[in-house]
Amino acid sequence: MDVNPGKKMREAKVAVVGAGVVGFSTAVRIAEMLPRCSITLLADKFSPDTTSDGAAGILIVEPFPDIPLERQRCWFRDSFEHLLDIALSQDAADAGVLLSSGYTIFTEPPVDKRPYWWDIVLGFRYLSDRELRRFPGYTFGQAFTTIKCECASYLPWLHKRFTQAGGKVEQKKLSSLDELRTDYDVIVNCSGLGSEDLAGDADVYPVRGQVVKVDAPWLQHFIRADAGEWYVYPGSRYVTLGGTKQARDRRLDSDPGDAEAILEHCARLEPSLRQGKVLGHWVGLRPYRRNPRVEKMPPLADGRHGALVVHNYGHGSYGISLAWGTAVEAVELVRCCLEEMHPTAKL
Ligand code: FAD
Repeated sequence: MDVNPGKKMREAKVAVVGAGVVGFSTAVRIAEMLPRCSITLLADKFSPDTTSDGAAGILIVEPFPDIPLERQRCWFRDSFEHLLDIALSQDAADAGVLLSSGYTIFTEPPVDKRPYWWDIVLGFRYLSDRELRRFPGYTFGQAFTTIKCECASYLPWLHKRFTQAGGKVEQKKLSSLDELRTDYDVIVNCSGLGSEDLAGDADVYPVRGQVVKVDAPWLQHFIRADAGEWYVYPGSRYVTLGGTKQARDRRLDSDPGDAEAILEHCARLEPSLRQGKVLGHWVGLRPYRRNPRVEKMPPLADGRHGALVVHNYGHGSYGISLAWGTAVEAVELVRCCLEEMHPTAKL
């Protein structure tokens, strides 16, 4: 009989794999919601070297095809509310989380003129004809205020919040999740594109994204054209211009042809960019999947003893927009795992 379930729970060991926005959001959420667990975050790359670091970080999403919209709405809403609290707090500058207003424009009106998150962002409305005149060739537009989350600041901020909540961090490249099975009770896999190998998942693949960073401090509004084909996202230190979406392309070097196309298309949207100074280029590989995988795995079928696994990866183009929301869900899955292992314990 378990005479001291509380003590047992204090010793429950959780590993989170991945130090991008998904890993750190999940680790912080576990540390704060399940304080009786001991949590270690393991990753081979940390800020500033993750994919999350270079992303523009704007909170705008397109729907995933096979996940109920209500679940996607929860992910977006939880992420937005969490980041809005930070944007409105004294931590905003340290955390790199700011409000961002602007326009999404379309050559043809989208099927759903109002995205599923229209009432989560602030002040959503359609553009007037007078406003649209500024964008020749575009026939429909939306204006709203969302959030820009700059991970070069946000990840170190989350890292600090995690260690303050008692979390431990370890730099390590894993060749398999099995390496952790005997040392931990639960493993949360937030390895993004690393899940090709770590989860043996052939459905996750890279989609290359290149951006140009420009000094143009006079720009205040974002412009996103045709569901993100071209975009101009002003930030706290520079304007991010994009972009490319090249499936299964693993090149990490910036391509001069891509940079030229980005600068040209973005300057058509915002002519004053022709006066902007190029500060640099960046390339990242988005962890694409038809639908993100936020899921608890059954125990090992061969009856071997070992940790339970929760997956949280495959956010594609929308990891910054959805990380906190999928972390909220992943933590509930971790809680289920721990309750299955210690049914009488209080977490
Ligand atoms: P990552 O940031 O890639 O982190 C993965 C972590 O797992 C790393 O720490 C890595 O070291 C670790 N790992 C992997 N394999 C192993 C292993 N074997 N052993 C140990 N550790 C391992 N999203 C938005 O919401 N808004 C945007 O405006 C936006 N703009 C973008 C622009 C571009 C150009 C690109 C490329 C992406 C953009 N994204 C945007 C998408 C966003 O960047 C990703 O969805 C997000 O970064 C994914 O986060 P992640 O934590 O899953 O992965």
